[in-house]
Amino acid sequence: MKRLSLANTPTPIEPIQFIEADLPVNLYIKRDDMTGLGLSGNKVRKLEYILWQALKDQVTDVITCGAIQSNHARATAMACARLGLDCHLFLAGQEAPEKEGNLFFEVLAGAEVRMVSGQDYDQARETMMADWARDIEASGDKKVLVIPEGGSNPLGSFGYVRAFEEILAQEEEMGLHFQKIALAAGSFGTYAGLVYGNAKFNAGRDLLAYNISGQAQDKLDNRLLPILEGMGQLDEAQVLVDPQSIKIRDGYQGLGYAKSRIEELEFIRDFASQTGIILDPVYTGKAMYGLVTDLLKNPDQPHQDVLFIHTGGAFGWTQAQRNMLLL
Ligand SMILES: *Cc1c(COP(=O)(O)O)cnc(C)c1O
Repeated sequence: MKRLSLANTPTPIEPIQFIEADLPVNLYIKRDDMTGLGLSGNKVRKLEYILWQALKDQVTDVITCGAIQSNHARATAMACARLGLDCHLFLAGQEAPEKEGNLFFEVLAGAEVRMVSGQDYDQARETMMADWARDIEASGDKKVLVIPEGGSNPLGSFGYVRAFEEILAQEEEMGLHFQKIALAAGSFGTYAGLVYGNAKFNAGRDLLAYNISGQAQDKLDNRLLPILEGMGQLDEAQVLVDPQSIKIRDGYQGLGYAKSRIEELEFIRDFASQTGIILDPVYTGKAMYGLVTDLLKNPDQPHQDVLFIHTGGAFGWTQAQRNMLLL
């Protein structure tokens, strides 16, 4: 599978000394928050594959979508700027929003932003993007690529098959074995890539997806499984995914997508002050909070090496969340 080189990889794997939590395991963190600055986070690994194909197909314009503070939308806007593509974004939220965080950088990178209501976004984003694409193509010799929410399609997920391979090579170098690999999951493309890699390389790891919104069963049926099926069709190899390797952790969504509870924000603050690592309130903060809580609940588990993949998201902090922490 061919790709562009957009991300700084391999990203480092570092031990975490999280002093407050006396963890029963050795916790490590893979710094996919350091894949870039404008291009930071997990989405750039997906875009390496998706945009390679776009350039090959002589695409001129890209349309994608996301929540108002979508990291995927920001990474796409930045990647398009770098590649000379025009970027158009549908974002869910109120009209004339404050241009902070990811939204600011999208505008800075020259992306065209259209706001849609949360309801229209949930019910009609696919048709709205298709209509927009038709309008752009009708106006001249343009060719549009529509990328789904989160860049989570089968092609993009191969970015995390590659990341999985990267982890196996780093384990070898470092003399470690990560029986558990944990991460935040929303649209499940990242997790799909890891699950597929786990099967493809016969690695037999426990992959823990901390679901940050909605319900696990719905994510499994309507996000994860269709992506895995599509990956099988794209890949020449016959890869059989063991359903046992799929472990979606429900229960840490808290108040729902991008809504924070004070205990999550305080956890992120303590974590930053004790490790020097910045988590985000929407994804990695909830997932790390969930992982640490789960680990502390089982003090007698085997003392193994556990890996958390930091998927980025620092630009997603908003004024409202900062205010909650009274900083
Ligand atoms: C998008 C995102 C995720 C989740 O990735 P999916 O592939 O959508 O499951 C996790 N963390 C951050 C910071 C993200 O932006």
